[in-house]
Amino acid sequence: MAAEIQPKALTRKPVLLSKVEGSQDVVSMAAIVPKEDGVISVSEDRTVRVWLKRESGQYWPSIYHAMPCKYFGMFILYLLCLFVFLLDFPAHQGRVMMILFVLEMEWVLSTGQDKQFTWHCSESGQRLGGYRTSAGACGLQFDVETRHVFIGDHSGQVTILKLEQENCSLVTTFKGHTGGVTALCWDPVQRVLFSGSSDHSIIMWDIGGRKGTAIELQGHNDKVQCLSYAPHTRQLISCGADGGIVIWNMDVERQETPEWLDSDSCQKCDQPFFWNFKQMWDSKKIGLRQHHCRKCGKAVCGKCSSKRSSIPLMGFEFEVRVCDSCHESITDEERAPTATFHDSKHNIVHVHFDATRGWLLTSGTDKIIKVRLRRLL
Ligand SMILES: [Zn+2]
Ligand SMILES: [Zn+2]
Repeated sequence: MAAEIQPKALTRKPVLLSKVEGSQDVVSMAAIVPKEDGVISVSEDRTVRVWLKRESGQYWPSIYHAMPCKYFGMFILYLLCLFVFLLDFPAHQGRVMMILFVLEMEWVLSTGQDKQFTWHCSESGQRLGGYRTSAGACGLQFDVETRHVFIGDHSGQVTILKLEQENCSLVTTFKGHTGGVTALCWDPVQRVLFSGSSDHSIIMWDIGGRKGTAIELQGHNDKVQCLSYAPHTRQLISCGADGGIVIWNMDVERQETPEWLDSDSCQKCDQPFFWNFKQMWDSKKIGLRQHHCRKCGKAVCGKCSSKRSSIPLMGFEFEVRVCDSCHESITDEERAPTATFHDSKHNIVHVHFDATRGWLLTSGTDKIIKVRLRRLL
């Protein structure tokens, strides 16, 4: 029987494969080298390291310019890392926050602490254009097909620009977070944008559906720091400052949370809320505090919303306040989680997922890179 349980456990829980230790500074970007037992990292002190696995099983740093450019993917990463050096001074006053290499366009897109978004030609290194965002931006994604760039900034705003070779036009801006945007992730197939925020939530913006739906995902107890999307299995991986890794199943029909309704009295038992002086006076009743049911959005008193429930299809993986009638209507199937939760045991600043091997790389403020095996199927 034990033999049956074992593989099942393996499929659910990511297994720690290796730790890459010895970085002098926090690794702000890292990736698994395709087809190699190696990791490439860029530290906050702007050093680039390639870590290759030795026979001892440990990862050791190799000097970046001596690394073999055997594989194309590795070559791209190599280029990208070189750009961190080349771009740093001329492109931005202050730290480079995000950098994205678009192979198809031969563009390098970047954002800096100076609130500037810029794009350069990767061949000539020439600056092609720029745009000033309302705050420093930590989220940067690009849609190759339509040449739209998504920029998520510290004010909580997401800006969409349409890029041409040497100019850009503002398409729209939208805001749904109460905290700054910390990460963006674009799914070019479903045409959905995910934004992670310091307000602990993730919002899934349906850009392609043109219906303007925005679905919230609540599964972190701390700031969401980075996102990664596995298109083949339609799973979103989100990592938090508390070390939490949440793997969301996006292959389910999710629902938007309702607008909160306004009322001067409980929409279940009619008792007045405390600001409704007239009714309090007329009926000689004590005013109650207003609450809202997360499922139906009705304004209810505490007595009529004493129970809690998770509502995974609305993105509430944790228990939230619901009114008594909604509590009764939610079935056990509807309460089935649509995400799995794991503890990485470090404050994650960067995540990279290698879908072909199912390797999940996280780097933390503890200067350690961890590689986990995560079977997604
Ligand atoms: Zn309700
Ligand atoms: Zn009530």
